[in-house]
Amino acid sequence: MKLRYKGRNANIKKAMKIANKILNDQEFYKKIDSFGQFDNTEPLDLSSVQISSFIKNHSKSVYVKTYIGKPGTNAKTNRSTNFKLNRINLGRPTNKIVRTMIHEYVHCIDFSLRDFKFTHVDNDNSTGDENNTAPWAIAQIAFEMINK
Ligand SMILES: [Zn+2]
Repeated sequence: MKLRYKGRNANIKKAMKIANKILNDQEFYKKIDSFGQFDNTEPLDLSSVQISSFIKNHSKSVYVKTYIGKPGTNAKTNRSTNFKLNRINLGRPTNKIVRTMIHEYVHCIDFSLRDFKFTHVDNDNSTGDENNTAPWAIAQIAFEMINK
């Protein structure tokens, strides 16, 4: 399994089931492949096909954990092995929690690689200026897949 969770929160379990389904869906990787160049990658020409294969081939499980944070923050990720969802934002619709999970999962894959980078510039995407960075764009691909 790509994502694992040891806790008992039903909203997390429900969202993670959907997120894992997407992370095992070849259609998801085809959509990433065909996205084109993401913003803010290192090297600058790191392709969406390469990033897609990093995500697809990541063999270690990533653990979903929780923390209590500020109301405006959905999650935080500092390492490749897990990400943390803000407990006070778990009442959101399932599709939005899935979108957050995929976004954070991309960060975990990024953290697992020493020679490549694909993240956003800062933590503010309120104007959409980071929509073409890998975490935001790939999470949006997943979001559109579950909403159709
Ligand atoms: Zn992020």
